Amino acid sequence: MHENFSLKPYNTFGVEAIAKYFAEVHSTEELIEILKQSDAQRLPILFLGGGSNILLTKNFDGLAILLNLQGISEEIIGENEVLVTAKAGENWHKFVLFCLSKNYGGLENLSLIPGNVGTSPMQNIGAYGIEIKDVFLSCKVLNLETLEVEIFDLEKCRFGYRDSIFKQEGKGKYVILEVTFKLSTKNHFIKTEYGAIQSELEKSGIENPSIQDISQAVINIRQSKLPDPKVRGNAGSFFKNPTIPLVEFEKLKQKFENIQGYPNGKLVKVPAGWLIEQCGWKGKKIGNVASHKLQSLVIINATGNATGKEIYDFSTMIIDSVKEKFGIELEREVNTI
Ligand SMILES: Cc1cc2nc3c(=O)[nH]c(=O)nc-3n(C[C@H](O)[C@H](O)[C@H](O)COP(=O)(O)OP(=O)(O)OC[C@H]3O[C@@H](n4cnc5c(N)ncnc54)[C@H](O)[C@@H]3O)c2cc1C
Repeated sequence: MHENFSLKPYNTFGVEAIAKYFAEVHSTEELIEILKQSDAQRLPILFLGGGSNILLTKNFDGLAILLNLQGISEEIIGENEVLVTAKAGENWHKFVLFCLSKNYGGLENLSLIPGNVGTSPMQNIGAYGIEIKDVFLSCKVLNLETLEVEIFDLEKCRFGYRDSIFKQEGKGKYVILEVTFKLSTKNHFIKTEYGAIQSELEKSGIENPSIQDISQAVINIRQSKLPDPKVRGNAGSFFKNPTIPLVEFEKLKQKFENIQGYPNGKLVKVPAGWLIEQCGWKGKKIGNVASHKLQSLVIINATGNATGKEIYDFSTMIIDSVKEKFGIELEREVNTI
Protein backbone atom coordinates (compact mmCIF):
# COMPACT_ATOMS: atom_id res chain seq x y z
CA MET A 1 0.00 0.00 0.00
CA HIS A 2 1.32 3.46 -0.94
CA GLU A 3 0.81 6.60 1.14
CA ASN A 4 0.07 10.14 -0.11
CA PHE A 5 -0.21 8.93 -3.69
CA SER A 6 -0.90 11.19 -6.70
CA LEU A 7 -3.98 10.19 -8.70
CA LYS A 8 -3.10 12.53 -11.59
CA PRO A 9 -2.08 9.66 -13.92
CA TYR A 10 -5.23 7.72 -12.95
CA ASN A 11 -7.91 10.14 -14.18
CA THR A 12 -8.33 11.21 -17.81
CA PHE A 13 -9.05 14.83 -16.81
CA GLY A 14 -5.43 14.81 -15.63
CA VAL A 15 -6.24 16.75 -12.46
CA GLU A 16 -4.15 16.47 -9.34
CA ALA A 17 -5.60 14.83 -6.23
CA ILE A 18 -3.71 13.00 -3.52
CA ALA A 19 -5.06 9.75 -2.10
CA LYS A 20 -4.09 9.11 1.51
CA TYR A 21 -3.54 5.45 0.55
CA PHE A 22 -3.33 3.66 -2.78
CA ALA A 23 -3.23 -0.02 -3.67
CA GLU A 24 -3.41 -2.02 -6.90
CA VAL A 25 -5.11 -5.42 -6.86
CA HIS A 26 -4.86 -8.23 -9.41
CA SER A 27 -7.30 -10.80 -8.03
CA THR A 28 -10.50 -11.09 -5.99
CA GLU A 29 -8.50 -12.61 -3.13
CA GLU A 30 -6.12 -9.63 -3.05
CA LEU A 31 -9.10 -7.29 -3.14
CA ILE A 32 -10.84 -9.03 -0.22
CA GLU A 33 -7.61 -8.99 1.77
CA ILE A 34 -7.11 -5.25 1.31
CA LEU A 35 -10.77 -4.52 2.04
CA LYS A 36 -10.47 -6.39 5.34
CA GLN A 37 -7.43 -4.28 6.26
CA SER A 38 -9.13 -1.01 5.30
CA ASP A 39 -12.29 -1.98 7.16
CA ALA A 40 -10.23 -2.41 10.31
CA GLN A 41 -8.97 1.16 9.78
CA ARG A 42 -12.46 2.40 8.72
CA LEU A 43 -11.12 3.97 5.55
CA PRO A 44 -13.40 5.30 2.82
CA ILE A 45 -12.72 3.48 -0.47
CA LEU A 46 -12.48 4.77 -4.02
CA PHE A 47 -12.40 2.17 -6.80
CA LEU A 48 -10.50 3.08 -9.92
CA GLY A 49 -10.83 1.63 -13.39
CA GLY A 50 -9.51 3.63 -16.33
CA GLY A 51 -10.41 6.92 -14.60
CA SER A 52 -12.28 8.15 -17.69
CA ASN A 53 -15.56 8.92 -15.97
CA ILE A 54 -14.49 10.59 -12.73
CA LEU A 55 -13.83 14.14 -11.66
CA LEU A 56 -11.63 14.40 -8.58
CA THR A 57 -12.54 17.70 -6.92
CA LYS A 58 -10.36 17.30 -3.84
CA ASN A 59 -7.77 15.06 -2.20
CA PHE A 60 -9.13 11.64 -1.19
CA ASP A 61 -8.80 10.96 2.50
CA GLY A 62 -9.06 7.20 2.19
CA LEU A 63 -7.88 4.23 0.15
CA ALA A 64 -7.95 4.33 -3.67
CA ILE A 65 -7.92 0.80 -5.13
CA LEU A 66 -6.90 0.29 -8.75
CA LEU A 67 -8.78 -2.76 -10.02
CA ASN A 68 -6.32 -4.52 -12.29
CA LEU A 69 -7.94 -7.95 -12.60
CA GLN A 70 -7.01 -9.41 -15.99
CA GLY A 71 -8.24 -12.30 -18.12
CA ILE A 72 -10.71 -13.19 -20.88
CA SER A 73 -12.50 -16.52 -21.40
CA GLU A 74 -14.94 -17.79 -24.02
CA GLU A 75 -17.59 -20.47 -24.29
CA ILE A 76 -19.42 -21.30 -27.52
CA ILE A 77 -23.01 -22.08 -26.53
CA GLY A 78 -24.88 -22.52 -29.79
CA GLU A 79 -24.91 -22.24 -33.57
CA ASN A 80 -24.55 -18.49 -33.44
CA GLU A 81 -23.76 -17.64 -29.82
CA VAL A 82 -20.70 -17.28 -27.67
CA LEU A 83 -20.34 -16.13 -24.09
CA VAL A 84 -17.26 -13.98 -23.55
CA THR A 85 -16.21 -13.05 -20.02
CA ALA A 86 -13.66 -10.38 -19.22
CA LYS A 87 -12.27 -9.42 -15.85
CA ALA A 88 -12.79 -5.91 -14.52
CA GLY A 89 -9.32 -4.53 -15.29
CA GLU A 90 -9.33 -5.41 -19.00
CA ASN A 91 -9.20 -2.28 -21.14
CA TRP A 92 -12.57 -1.88 -22.89
CA HIS A 93 -11.33 -1.10 -26.40
CA LYS A 94 -8.71 -3.86 -26.33
CA PHE A 95 -11.51 -6.23 -25.30
CA VAL A 96 -13.67 -5.05 -28.23
CA LEU A 97 -10.72 -5.61 -30.60
CA PHE A 98 -10.18 -9.08 -29.13
CA CYS A 99 -13.82 -9.97 -29.86
CA LEU A 100 -13.53 -8.58 -33.38
CA SER A 101 -10.36 -10.61 -34.01
CA LYS A 102 -12.42 -13.71 -33.21
CA ASN A 103 -15.29 -12.42 -35.38
CA TYR A 104 -17.62 -12.17 -32.38
CA GLY A 105 -20.28 -9.57 -33.07
CA GLY A 106 -22.19 -7.19 -30.82
CA LEU A 107 -19.64 -4.75 -29.43
CA GLU A 108 -18.37 -3.13 -32.65
CA ASN A 109 -20.46 0.05 -32.27
CA LEU A 110 -18.86 0.54 -28.85
CA SER A 111 -15.31 0.69 -30.22
CA LEU A 112 -12.84 3.19 -28.76
CA ILE A 113 -14.81 4.02 -25.61
CA PRO A 114 -12.15 4.64 -22.94
CA GLY A 115 -12.15 2.82 -19.62
CA ASN A 116 -12.28 -0.74 -18.41
CA VAL A 117 -14.65 -3.67 -18.80
CA GLY A 118 -15.50 -3.73 -15.09
CA THR A 119 -16.90 -0.23 -15.24
CA SER A 120 -18.97 -0.75 -18.38
CA PRO A 121 -22.14 -1.81 -16.48
CA MET A 122 -21.92 1.19 -14.12
CA GLN A 123 -23.51 3.55 -16.61
CA ASN A 124 -24.52 0.99 -19.23
CA ILE A 125 -22.03 2.48 -21.67
CA GLY A 126 -23.48 3.27 -25.03
CA ALA A 127 -22.67 4.78 -28.40
CA TYR A 128 -23.96 4.68 -31.99
CA GLY A 129 -27.27 3.04 -31.21
CA ILE A 130 -25.97 0.27 -28.91
CA GLU A 131 -25.72 -0.01 -25.13
CA ILE A 132 -24.03 -2.86 -23.30
CA LYS A 133 -27.42 -3.99 -22.00
CA ASP A 134 -28.12 -5.21 -25.58
CA VAL A 135 -25.41 -7.89 -25.32
CA PHE A 136 -25.04 -8.24 -21.54
CA LEU A 137 -25.60 -11.62 -19.89
CA SER A 138 -24.41 -11.09 -16.30
CA CYS A 139 -21.70 -9.72 -14.08
CA LYS A 140 -19.94 -11.07 -11.04
CA VAL A 141 -19.76 -8.59 -8.18
CA LEU A 142 -18.30 -8.50 -4.70
CA ASN A 143 -20.80 -7.42 -2.06
CA LEU A 144 -18.83 -4.94 0.03
CA GLU A 145 -20.86 -5.57 3.17
CA THR A 146 -20.65 -9.38 3.22
CA LEU A 147 -17.51 -9.79 1.05
CA GLU A 148 -19.44 -12.53 -0.79
CA VAL A 149 -19.40 -12.90 -4.57
CA GLU A 150 -22.82 -12.51 -6.23
CA ILE A 151 -24.10 -12.76 -9.80
CA PHE A 152 -26.21 -9.94 -11.25
CA ASP A 153 -28.23 -10.76 -14.36
CA LEU A 154 -29.70 -8.26 -16.82
CA GLU A 155 -32.83 -7.68 -14.78
CA LYS A 156 -30.99 -7.19 -11.51
CA CYS A 157 -28.69 -4.57 -13.07
CA ARG A 158 -31.71 -2.35 -13.94
CA PHE A 159 -29.99 -0.72 -16.85
CA GLY A 160 -31.26 2.61 -18.11
CA TYR A 161 -29.83 5.44 -20.17
CA ARG A 162 -26.30 5.90 -18.72
CA ASP A 163 -27.64 4.29 -15.59
CA SER A 164 -27.80 1.06 -13.60
CA ILE A 165 -28.39 -0.20 -10.08
CA PHE A 166 -24.68 0.53 -9.45
CA LYS A 167 -25.34 4.28 -9.77
CA GLN A 168 -28.59 4.10 -7.80
CA GLU A 169 -29.45 2.01 -4.73
CA GLY A 170 -26.41 -0.21 -5.25
CA LYS A 171 -24.03 2.77 -5.26
CA GLY A 172 -20.95 2.06 -3.14
CA LYS A 173 -22.25 -1.41 -2.22
CA TYR A 174 -20.67 -3.57 -4.91
CA VAL A 175 -17.50 -3.86 -6.88
CA ILE A 176 -17.80 -5.42 -10.31
CA LEU A 177 -15.27 -8.23 -10.78
CA GLU A 178 -16.07 -9.50 -14.27
CA VAL A 179 -18.67 -9.14 -17.01
CA THR A 180 -20.09 -11.75 -19.39
CA PHE A 181 -21.44 -10.78 -22.82
CA LYS A 182 -23.53 -12.86 -25.19
CA LEU A 183 -22.17 -12.28 -28.69
CA SER A 184 -22.87 -13.65 -32.15
CA THR A 185 -20.44 -15.87 -34.06
CA LYS A 186 -21.79 -15.67 -37.64
CA ASN A 187 -25.14 -14.01 -38.33
CA HIS A 188 -24.21 -10.64 -36.95
CA PHE A 189 -26.79 -7.98 -36.31
CA ILE A 190 -25.40 -5.00 -38.15
CA LYS A 191 -26.45 -1.57 -36.91
CA THR A 192 -25.43 1.30 -39.16
CA GLU A 193 -28.29 3.77 -39.08
CA TYR A 194 -27.09 5.73 -36.07
CA GLY A 195 -24.85 8.78 -36.19
CA ALA A 196 -22.53 9.14 -39.14
CA ILE A 197 -21.74 5.42 -39.55
CA GLN A 198 -23.56 5.10 -42.88
CA SER A 199 -21.83 8.09 -44.46
CA GLU A 200 -18.44 6.99 -43.10
CA LEU A 201 -18.94 3.56 -44.73
CA GLU A 202 -19.99 5.21 -47.99
CA LYS A 203 -16.82 7.31 -47.95
CA SER A 204 -14.84 4.05 -47.97
CA GLY A 205 -17.11 2.52 -50.65
CA ILE A 206 -18.39 -0.23 -48.32
CA GLU A 207 -21.89 -1.50 -49.14
CA ASN A 208 -22.15 -4.67 -47.05
CA PRO A 209 -20.13 -3.88 -43.95
CA SER A 210 -18.60 -6.51 -41.72
CA ILE A 211 -18.47 -5.96 -37.95
CA GLN A 212 -14.81 -5.02 -38.43
CA ASP A 213 -15.82 -2.34 -40.98
CA ILE A 214 -18.32 -0.90 -38.52
CA SER A 215 -15.72 -0.80 -35.78
CA GLN A 216 -13.31 1.05 -38.09
CA ALA A 217 -16.02 3.52 -39.12
CA VAL A 218 -16.83 4.22 -35.45
CA ILE A 219 -13.12 4.67 -34.67
CA ASN A 220 -12.74 7.14 -37.57
CA ILE A 221 -15.77 9.17 -36.47
CA ARG A 222 -14.76 9.23 -32.82
CA GLN A 223 -11.19 10.25 -33.64
CA SER A 224 -12.42 13.13 -35.80
CA LYS A 225 -14.93 14.41 -33.23
CA LEU A 226 -13.73 13.73 -29.72
CA PRO A 227 -10.62 15.10 -28.02
CA ASP A 228 -8.01 12.50 -27.10
CA PRO A 229 -7.65 12.59 -23.28
CA LYS A 230 -3.90 12.03 -23.69
CA VAL A 231 -3.71 15.40 -25.44
CA ARG A 232 -6.50 17.37 -23.70
CA GLY A 233 -7.79 16.02 -20.39
CA ASN A 234 -11.50 15.20 -20.51
CA ALA A 235 -14.05 12.56 -19.54
CA GLY A 236 -16.14 12.46 -22.72
CA SER A 237 -19.70 13.75 -22.41
CA PHE A 238 -19.88 15.63 -19.15
CA PHE A 239 -23.69 15.75 -19.04
CA LYS A 240 -26.50 13.34 -19.85
CA ASN A 241 -29.01 14.23 -22.56
CA PRO A 242 -32.06 15.38 -20.58
CA THR A 243 -35.47 13.78 -21.06
CA ILE A 244 -38.45 16.08 -20.73
CA PRO A 245 -42.24 15.63 -21.04
CA LEU A 246 -43.61 16.04 -24.59
CA VAL A 247 -45.87 18.92 -23.51
CA GLU A 248 -42.90 20.82 -22.16
CA PHE A 249 -40.96 20.14 -25.36
CA GLU A 250 -43.84 21.48 -27.47
CA LYS A 251 -43.93 24.67 -25.42
CA LEU A 252 -40.17 25.11 -25.92
CA LYS A 253 -40.58 24.48 -29.65
CA GLN A 254 -42.85 27.53 -29.91
CA LYS A 255 -40.12 29.70 -28.45
CA PHE A 256 -37.06 27.98 -29.94
CA GLU A 257 -38.17 26.60 -33.29
CA ASN A 258 -34.83 24.88 -34.00
CA ILE A 259 -34.84 22.87 -30.78
CA GLN A 260 -34.03 19.23 -31.48
CA GLY A 261 -35.66 16.28 -29.76
CA TYR A 262 -36.05 12.52 -30.03
CA PRO A 263 -39.56 11.52 -28.90
CA ASN A 264 -40.17 8.31 -27.00
CA GLY A 265 -43.83 8.00 -26.02
CA LYS A 266 -44.75 10.95 -23.82
CA LEU A 267 -41.11 11.92 -23.29
CA VAL A 268 -38.56 13.63 -25.50
CA LYS A 269 -34.78 13.33 -25.25
CA VAL A 270 -33.11 16.66 -25.99
CA PRO A 271 -29.43 16.76 -27.01
CA ALA A 272 -27.58 18.44 -24.15
CA GLY A 273 -24.85 19.57 -26.57
CA TRP A 274 -27.38 21.66 -28.53
CA LEU A 275 -28.74 23.31 -25.36
CA ILE A 276 -25.22 24.14 -24.16
CA GLU A 277 -24.26 25.52 -27.57
CA GLN A 278 -27.34 27.77 -27.64
CA CYS A 279 -26.18 29.28 -24.36
CA GLY A 280 -22.93 30.32 -26.03
CA TRP A 281 -20.63 27.79 -24.36
CA LYS A 282 -19.18 26.00 -27.39
CA GLY A 283 -15.41 26.54 -27.36
CA LYS A 284 -15.67 29.02 -24.45
CA LYS A 285 -12.70 29.06 -22.06
CA ILE A 286 -12.60 30.36 -18.51
CA GLY A 287 -9.26 30.11 -16.73
CA ASN A 288 -7.90 26.60 -17.28
CA VAL A 289 -11.19 25.04 -18.37
CA ALA A 290 -13.08 25.07 -21.67
CA SER A 291 -15.99 23.55 -23.48
CA HIS A 292 -14.64 21.66 -26.52
CA LYS A 293 -14.76 23.60 -29.79
CA LEU A 294 -16.29 20.71 -31.78
CA GLN A 295 -18.45 19.12 -29.10
CA SER A 296 -19.79 21.42 -26.38
CA LEU A 297 -20.91 18.45 -24.27
CA VAL A 298 -17.25 17.73 -23.56
CA ILE A 299 -15.48 19.83 -20.94
CA ILE A 300 -11.69 19.90 -21.27
CA ASN A 301 -8.72 20.65 -19.04
CA ALA A 302 -7.64 23.28 -21.56
CA THR A 303 -4.24 24.21 -20.15
CA GLY A 304 -3.44 20.93 -18.43
CA ASN A 305 -3.36 22.83 -15.12
CA ALA A 306 -7.05 22.81 -14.21
CA THR A 307 -8.11 21.65 -10.79
CA GLY A 308 -11.13 19.38 -10.34
CA LYS A 309 -12.87 22.18 -8.46
CA GLU A 310 -12.42 24.58 -11.43
CA ILE A 311 -13.91 21.98 -13.78
CA TYR A 312 -16.79 21.38 -11.40
CA ASP A 313 -17.50 25.12 -11.09
CA PHE A 314 -17.38 25.48 -14.89
CA SER A 315 -19.95 22.68 -15.20
CA THR A 316 -22.17 24.43 -12.63
CA MET A 317 -22.11 27.62 -14.72
CA ILE A 318 -23.25 25.60 -17.74
CA ILE A 319 -26.04 23.96 -15.74
CA ASP A 320 -27.21 27.37 -14.47
CA SER A 321 -27.29 29.00 -17.88
CA VAL A 322 -29.16 26.10 -19.53
CA LYS A 323 -31.66 26.17 -16.66
CA GLU A 324 -32.14 29.91 -17.06
CA LYS A 325 -32.65 29.82 -20.83
CA PHE A 326 -34.62 26.58 -21.28
CA GLY A 327 -35.85 25.67 -17.79
CA ILE A 328 -34.09 22.30 -18.17
CA GLU A 329 -31.82 20.98 -15.41
CA LEU A 330 -28.79 19.17 -16.86
CA GLU A 331 -27.48 16.18 -14.91
CA ARG A 332 -23.76 15.37 -14.75
CA GLU A 333 -22.82 12.02 -16.32
CA VAL A 334 -19.33 12.09 -14.82
CA ASN A 335 -18.91 10.74 -11.27
CA THR A 336 -17.83 13.59 -9.02
CA ILE A 337 -15.60 12.57 -6.14
C1 LIG B 1 -13.00 10.70 -24.80
C2 LIG B 1 -14.08 9.96 -24.03
C3 LIG B 1 -15.17 9.44 -24.72
C4 LIG B 1 -16.17 8.74 -24.02
N1 LIG B 1 -17.23 8.22 -24.74
C5 LIG B 1 -18.19 7.52 -24.09
C6 LIG B 1 -19.30 6.96 -24.85
O1 LIG B 1 -19.37 7.07 -26.07
N2 LIG B 1 -20.24 6.29 -24.16
C7 LIG B 1 -20.18 6.11 -22.80
O2 LIG B 1 -21.08 5.47 -22.25
N3 LIG B 1 -19.15 6.62 -22.08
C8 LIG B 1 -18.15 7.32 -22.69
N4 LIG B 1 -17.13 7.86 -21.97
C9 LIG B 1 -17.11 7.71 -20.50
C10 LIG B 1 -16.26 6.51 -20.00
O3 LIG B 1 -15.41 6.06 -21.00
C11 LIG B 1 -17.13 5.35 -19.55
O4 LIG B 1 -18.04 5.76 -18.57
C12 LIG B 1 -16.29 4.19 -19.00
O5 LIG B 1 -17.11 3.06 -18.78
C13 LIG B 1 -15.59 4.56 -17.69
O6 LIG B 1 -14.72 3.50 -17.36
P1 LIG B 1 -13.49 3.67 -16.39
O7 LIG B 1 -12.94 2.32 -16.16
O8 LIG B 1 -12.56 4.70 -16.94
O9 LIG B 1 -14.25 4.24 -15.10
P2 LIG B 1 -13.64 5.08 -13.87
O10 LIG B 1 -13.64 6.53 -14.26
O11 LIG B 1 -12.38 4.50 -13.39
O12 LIG B 1 -14.79 4.85 -12.78
C14 LIG B 1 -16.09 5.37 -12.97
C15 LIG B 1 -16.89 5.12 -11.67
O13 LIG B 1 -17.03 3.73 -11.44
C16 LIG B 1 -16.39 3.32 -10.21
N5 LIG B 1 -15.76 2.05 -10.53
C17 LIG B 1 -14.68 1.82 -11.32
N6 LIG B 1 -14.48 0.51 -11.49
C18 LIG B 1 -15.46 -0.14 -10.80
C19 LIG B 1 -15.79 -1.52 -10.59
N7 LIG B 1 -15.12 -2.51 -11.17
N8 LIG B 1 -16.84 -1.80 -9.77
C20 LIG B 1 -17.55 -0.82 -9.19
N9 LIG B 1 -17.29 0.50 -9.36
C21 LIG B 1 -16.26 0.84 -10.17
C22 LIG B 1 -15.45 4.45 -9.85
O14 LIG B 1 -15.26 4.56 -8.46
C23 LIG B 1 -16.19 5.66 -10.41
O15 LIG B 1 -17.19 6.10 -9.53
C24 LIG B 1 -16.08 8.56 -22.63
C25 LIG B 1 -14.97 9.07 -21.94
C26 LIG B 1 -13.97 9.76 -22.63
C27 LIG B 1 -12.77 10.27 -21.89
